[in-house]
Amino acid sequence: MTTEPTEEIVLHGISGSQGICIGKAYLVDREGVDVIERYNIDNKDVDKELKRFKGAVNKAKNELSGIIEDIPEDLRQHAYILETHLLLHKDKMLYGKTIELIKNEQINAEWALKKASATAKSVFKNISDPYLQARAADIEHVCDRILRHLMGTVDVNISGINKRVILVANNLSPAETSQIQLNRVMGFITDRGGKTSHTSIIARTLEIPAVLGLERATALIKNEDLIIVDGNEGIVIINPEEETLVRYEELSRRYEAYKKEEVRRGELPATSADGKHFRIMGNIELPEEVVAVKDHGGDGIGLFRTEFLYLSRIDFPGEQELFDQYKEVVELMSPLPVTIRTLDINGDKEIESMPSPEEANPALGLRAIRFCLKNPEIFKTQLRAILRASAHGYVRLLLPMISGAEEITECIRILDQAAAELEQEGLEYNRDIEVGIMIEIPSAAVMADLLADMVDFFSIGTNDLVQYTLAIDRGNRHVAHLYSPMHPAVIRLIRHVVDAGRHKGKKTYMCGEMAAEPMHLPILMGMGIEELSMAPQSIPKIKNLIRKINVSEVEKLMDTLLQQSSVQDMERIIMDAYGELLNEDIYGK
Ligand code: PEP
Ligand code: MG
Repeated sequence: MTTEPTEEIVLHGISGSQGICIGKAYLVDREGVDVIERYNIDNKDVDKELKRFKGAVNKAKNELSGIIEDIPEDLRQHAYILETHLLLHKDKMLYGKTIELIKNEQINAEWALKKASATAKSVFKNISDPYLQARAADIEHVCDRILRHLMGTVDVNISGINKRVILVANNLSPAETSQIQLNRVMGFITDRGGKTSHTSIIARTLEIPAVLGLERATALIKNEDLIIVDGNEGIVIINPEEETLVRYEELSRRYEAYKKEEVRRGELPATSADGKHFRIMGNIELPEEVVAVKDHGGDGIGLFRTEFLYLSRIDFPGEQELFDQYKEVVELMSPLPVTIRTLDINGDKEIESMPSPEEANPALGLRAIRFCLKNPEIFKTQLRAILRASAHGYVRLLLPMISGAEEITECIRILDQAAAELEQEGLEYNRDIEVGIMIEIPSAAVMADLLADMVDFFSIGTNDLVQYTLAIDRGNRHVAHLYSPMHPAVIRLIRHVVDAGRHKGKKTYMCGEMAAEPMHLPILMGMGIEELSMAPQSIPKIKNLIRKINVSEVEKLMDTLLQQSSVQDMERIIMDAYGELLNEDIYGK
């Protein structure tokens, strides 16, 4: 038998999730749904066709519900993605439009659905925001599932794979990705998809290497081909030569050792080289994420974003439901602190239960605390649930989007009312609960010296503080290059807040993305921000860096930094002093 000579091919894509794996390719075959016939149906058969379509939608929904029920524990926090898909099955743009097309154009259900989905996808694709653009993929995944039921083709059963492989697919849906079993799948690569796709978000949670957007992977790779997936560089190598293989085996070993060591050392306290202690906390959106915070050595929850319990539903959650969720988180973390932030909806997170009015500038509109103060009953229900949870561990209450003193006064009035009610009803709560405000609007930052008298702590939300200080929409890719937490104006504002708080004996924490970026760390330590909160996966890296930095040295650098007038100069000074430390070699020595 002669074997064909194989040539090494290198493909460049987008890194969806870090890490390296080497193994046999397993092509996820999705034949059948790409070729769709168009045919007309007789007037008398329209009802039959509608019934066939509705039947396929129901089957697709039931199948997805089954997947949601079986979703493994560590991916539970992503179940909302699939629940959104479930809602899409009956979406007006998709479901309503297909029915309309079958009736009006008398065409077959497959073609009608394809047409409806093309229109719906183009709506998303034309939005400039990359996150929303990527949502076109969600529509496609939902349509594919319905189409498979209409055409009787088989779905890929990823949970049925019984050897350790690397998945190669044109596109993997979040539902398929959630079925990945880590003892069977080492990593995956796809022709389509990008960094903000839900598929790569799930890959990062699974902590398996993934490269997306390769375009020709399924065309070039055959089943059982040997491939290398380099999720660090976004590269895939097909049929590697012996030399390449040896090199990547070594890199993979070194990267694994580096990660293991990083997580292991993440368990150690975040104490600087000169002995100053910092607390590195986790940001969570769902109770299930508490495990990730603990596994990555978090010192507590610095931001529990509560809006996700209000999204994707048609009613508002009641007090008991909220209380149960908060209590679970608080008890799991006890005695460590859990900072529960009250509802921050609208802006970019609209809730279905109360669509917001048309707003030309939603980021400047009826968002967060403004919505809550306009709907005091909804606000009070949440405050009662938070207060009740405070009897079960260490809870801090955090108010978002505060712009000035009047809002704090009004919030405290409603909080006092909620406490008085609980008192009367004989329900337990912590009477000394710490109340803090997010500093994310420049007016609050400027007024920090006076606001400090009204609250127990500040938490700086840099995602919004940068947006509002520099007048840069945080979701607009056309101005993304101008969005920098290292802008001297932002640094000066933060410095003012920390100092103003300190003079009044109040602590300032940080929970925006700025806290998770190694390059920003020296400056935050130099300003004396002792508590930083971030996505759980970032905790070990930041803790390990803190242990290598001398606070007294960065403090000396602060005066120079505060005299700079540009982002570039700020970054240059930081890199001159800490570049070697910050550019740590992920492959170790
Ligand atoms: C922030 O603005 O920095 C923040 C943490 O809040 P969110 O990202 O939820 O607006
Ligand atoms: Mg914010």
